Amino acid sequence: MSERLLDIRGLSVSFDTPQGTVRALRDVNLHVNRGEILGLVGESGSGKSVTMLSCLGLLARNGRIDSGSILFEGQELSAAGLSSRAELRTHENMLRGIRGNRIGMIFQDPMTYMNPVLSIGTQLTEGLVAHGKCSRQEAWQKGTELLRKVGISNPERRMRQYPYEFSGGQRQRMIIAAALACEPQLLIADEPTTALDVTVQAQILDLIRGLARENGTAVILITHDLGVVASLCDRITVLYGGKVCETGTSDEIFYETKHPYTEGLLQSVARRDSTGGGSARGTLVSIPGSPPDLLRIRDGCPFAARCEAAMKICRDYVPAVTDFGPQHTAACWLYCKERAGELVAAQDRERGEQND
Ligand code: SF4
Repeated sequence: MSERLLDIRGLSVSFDTPQGTVRALRDVNLHVNRGEILGLVGESGSGKSVTMLSCLGLLARNGRIDSGSILFEGQELSAAGLSSRAELRTHENMLRGIRGNRIGMIFQDPMTYMNPVLSIGTQLTEGLVAHGKCSRQEAWQKGTELLRKVGISNPERRMRQYPYEFSGGQRQRMIIAAALACEPQLLIADEPTTALDVTVQAQILDLIRGLARENGTAVILITHDLGVVASLCDRITVLYGGKVCETGTSDEIFYETKHPYTEGLLQSVARRDSTGGGSARGTLVSIPGSPPDLLRIRDGCPFAARCEAAMKICRDYVPAVTDFGPQHTAACWLYCKERAGELVAAQDRERGEQND
């Protein structure tokens, strides 16, 4: 059995808008191993959520996977290349069987995903019953146990209550309980603590870590805040402008940073202490300039317009990826200067010939 639970290769996604085509992801490669916690980090618009929505087949109607492969336990989740209605219907049915069952989801705002007129018990158990995991009565018992597990007191009574009767932190705990109900192999948590106050944030992150470790569940934690992932994640992948900038273990990202954008992000948070414990929180540093316009993005490095180290080659050529260790890579021309020099010389020659 492969160690890789989810393996995304060369994923490119775009959206058709009245203004033109938005290239949201370009050639994204990332993976998460069984039982591992991966942090997916980047600013708003970097492509974090689009990556995960692509995996779940939940892109907006104007979105499409242009190319690439998304293997989940060896099963292809990408619909790229499927064209006939029958193929697409079969594919969607397969995804429906995976969503909420083998892949659980936790979103930022629980109220968006909870039905205000259904009791918590009904919402917690419907996935178990719909996926044929157990009878309604067994599901109710399991739901009660799950509420207890995520720290909701008096779960028997709470199962019969409605979402408005719970605080924001309790609702997020219930979403975690619902996501774990079917015992998924992978849990995707998209900014799960952004709407919560700092104390509750820490509790929810601890809860996710504890449950994931206990059940051997892999987790992808999507966040714009490196401080959040500091003490929680085994590995971190940093996205910018729809491309992966850097990926590595938490220690590599925090202490052996290679990519200028990751460095910029790190300047916004105090680094982990040397014992690896606790993370300090902070806001994103104001890196001069704005994120790239994905309607007009070119093939070079997406960070070129804001990077103090940018060179001539950075605007024209996709940065080469350099390996710094078995798990540590960065896409930046700073580490391939020889190759960069050859490309620029060839480009200059070509322009010279055209001018002659
Ligand atoms: Fe900066 Fe160039 Fe590296 Fe991009 S490739 S991060 S522009 S040095």
